[in-house]
Amino acid sequence: MRLTDAMRAVFVELLVHGPLSRAEAARRLALSPSALTKVTKPFIEAGYLREQATGEGTATVGRPSQPLEVEVSRMSFVGIKLTADELFAVRTDLAATIQAETSRPLIDHDIDNVLGQITQAITDLTGEGRPPLSAVGISLAGTATPSDPVVHTSPFLGWSQLPLARLVEEAVGVPTVLDNDVRALTAVQQWFGEGVGHSSFALITVGAGIGCGLVIGDRLVTGQSGAAGLVGHLSIDDRGPMCELGHRGCARAYASLPAIRRSVAGTLDRPELTFDDCLALARDGHPVARRVFDEAGSALGQLVATVANITGPELVILSGEAVHMQEVCADAFQAALARHTHWTSTPVRVVVKPFTFNEWARGAAVTALQHQLLHG
Ligand SMILES: [Zn+2]
Repeated sequence: MRLTDAMRAVFVELLVHGPLSRAEAARRLALSPSALTKVTKPFIEAGYLREQATGEGTATVGRPSQPLEVEVSRMSFVGIKLTADELFAVRTDLAATIQAETSRPLIDHDIDNVLGQITQAITDLTGEGRPPLSAVGISLAGTATPSDPVVHTSPFLGWSQLPLARLVEEAVGVPTVLDNDVRALTAVQQWFGEGVGHSSFALITVGAGIGCGLVIGDRLVTGQSGAAGLVGHLSIDDRGPMCELGHRGCARAYASLPAIRRSVAGTLDRPELTFDDCLALARDGHPVARRVFDEAGSALGQLVATVANITGPELVILSGEAVHMQEVCADAFQAALARHTHWTSTPVRVVVKPFTFNEWARGAAVTALQHQLLHG
């Protein structure tokens, strides 16, 4: 089906905000009722949209008073997240609901081996009897955007200038797009999460590193070559701890998961402590752990305030593998957020979003979905 701009707009509106009555859909998109009918008819005929059934499973096709909704099983996407040593993959429907998932350790970083493992994961998720695959999304920490098939830099995987999307597309015969992993997570929030209904918001992730995805004026911001949102090494206090790149007191040195663990375990000379052990010590009031988590919360509050001062979001979503540390450092976080928010503003509303690891791969699936619906 050849899509016009109006068709894309209607379909996305119904996917993100639906089901909607025809009157409401027409109002939101500033279309006349007849223009809306013209746009939706081909989608309904091809099974992408349907009129919501009423009553006990009674289909009421053809009654214009019934709300319109997307037939979410009509398309299927695979999202893959690559870390330094593992591959996580999910298959989703059009509403980004996970239908199946798989993971495996990466053999090594040799591109032929990784390509083989990606192909195998896709095969495992899309076997016979499952809906045909519409697109594949791949996310990783590093410099990549959906408009470019090349991974420009991926420090964890040791790749640079690698045309990964083209290689996967050739191997599996399905359109494939890349994106930075934090931006892919932001795409999930934009269409299916806390960001729905907000035209400007930021997602800040805390985990192995610190990431930032931005939606400004309904657009997911990529910046030059995908470089927007690189806040991880923002200077917090130049008397602070050192990060692995030698910055004294950057955000990552204070608030990333490995830095917090290293700081508590190192000070106590207990190298066996995990991050969650450190968190439990802080919860129990251990002074060293308390201090490290308070400093982490404070650094994060300062970082969120800085992002808010620059971009003016309606909402900041905090997530990532270490976001549960908020349970012990929320006071320090809020105090720093208030202290560093510009005096003419009130501190931005912050929502803490609990995190599961398959969200990374789900983000990659939504990147593929967005690219397919907006540009495919
Ligand atoms: Zn740094």
